[in-house]
Amino acid sequence: MKTFDYIRPATVSDAIAAAAEPGAVYLAAGTNLLDLMKGGVTRPDRLVDVTRLSGLDRIERLPDGGVRIGAMVRNADLAHDMDFARAYPAVAEALLSGASAQLRNAATVGGNLLQRTRCGYFYDTASACNKREPGAGCAARDGENKLHAVLGWSEACIATHPSDFCVPLTALDAVVEIEGRSGRREVALEAFHRLPGDTPERESVLAPGDLIVALRLPSEARGFSAHARYLKVRERTSYAFAVVSAAACVRIEHGTIREARLALGGVAAKPWRARAAEEVLAGVRPDPAIYRKAARAALADAKPSGDNAFKIELAERIIVRALMLAAAGTPQRIPALPASPFSSVPGVLHDA
Ligand SMILES: Cc1cc2nc3c(=O)[nH]c(=O)nc-3n(C[C@H](O)[C@H](O)[C@H](O)COP(=O)(O)OP(=O)(O)OC[C@H]3O[C@@H](n4cnc5c(N)ncnc54)[C@H](O)[C@@H]3O)c2cc1C
Ligand code: SF4
Repeated sequence: MKTFDYIRPATVSDAIAAAAEPGAVYLAAGTNLLDLMKGGVTRPDRLVDVTRLSGLDRIERLPDGGVRIGAMVRNADLAHDMDFARAYPAVAEALLSGASAQLRNAATVGGNLLQRTRCGYFYDTASACNKREPGAGCAARDGENKLHAVLGWSEACIATHPSDFCVPLTALDAVVEIEGRSGRREVALEAFHRLPGDTPERESVLAPGDLIVALRLPSEARGFSAHARYLKVRERTSYAFAVVSAAACVRIEHGTIREARLALGGVAAKPWRARAAEEVLAGVRPDPAIYRKAARAALADAKPSGDNAFKIELAERIIVRALMLAAAGTPQRIPALPASPFSSVPGVLHDA
């Protein structure tokens, strides 16, 4: 068994100093990290437990109308905060579509951003994996790859990022607050995760010791609350990661889409903002033909990385469906089961 140190610092600065040492990692709820350690995929020398740091577990309404979410806020607490869910319904819907109730009760906001890919070869230490062991090769290229990336992938790695939460956050211009050895900085979530290139082991812009302290959503993101949905397709109805997902948020005035936000999950190593599609949608009347045009624009650069060409068409269809649901209006209550490709438009939705 691999031994490791466990420490629980009292302050953010102590945590950063402890985690900046080689072989150290932060421990939040451990719902991903501990699985990786048990399987020998990750073998840290030191766990720096950040769950008791004070001040990181708050949801704060900001004077400018935005919201600040501490990195230790639990996924379930955020999804069930009624003020938050009313203002950012697609984010709440995405949170509730992830994992299981038990996991959501434990998992933290910061940990969700940094959860690792669900590529099976990454978890199988007998397989070649450039992400786990740089230079080893990529078993997924000639293996089981139907769920792998169709956008932004490289010869070195074709894995996807599994988070649901990050998808609407990216669409709504969320910002990550980071504290590190050289002080505090902010990074747009869209720029936070890295595409694999030649270094798939580097998944985010974080440097050793960097701690996510909070996420912020700007006040403008509230402007989409009346027409915002998260739609997730998965291999079974609950407790499964997205094959493809889409967050669609539109601001409709006098029958015209003034502004649209669109992001995809399950298609790339990062949540994928579809800006070309947003341009197609701006200033036009909501209409399925326009949604199809936007969907084609969103996937224009997509190419299969293996046996997964179906994901391109699936993603286009999910975009169209998500836009139809969003344009029909956010439900009064978030559905008990998140939006499904089989729900009607506008549908009879189950109460939470
Ligand atoms: C069976 C199962 C099904 C799941 N299904 C889904 C799903 O459908 N959709 C979905 O989105 N997620 C899903 N998840 C993932 C789950 O949401 C994540 O495991 C969880 O969000 C991670 O949060 P955590 O607090 O447990 O992080 P941990 O496991 O403690 O940490 C994860 C990573 O983040 C780092 N980290 C944590 N906090 C910080 C911080 N503040 N600053 C810097 N680094 C930090 C850790 O060092 C570690 O590398 C599933 C998980 C499981 C086990
Ligand atoms: S796709 Fe990426 S994570 Fe999966 S085996 Fe290849 S290098 Fe590893």
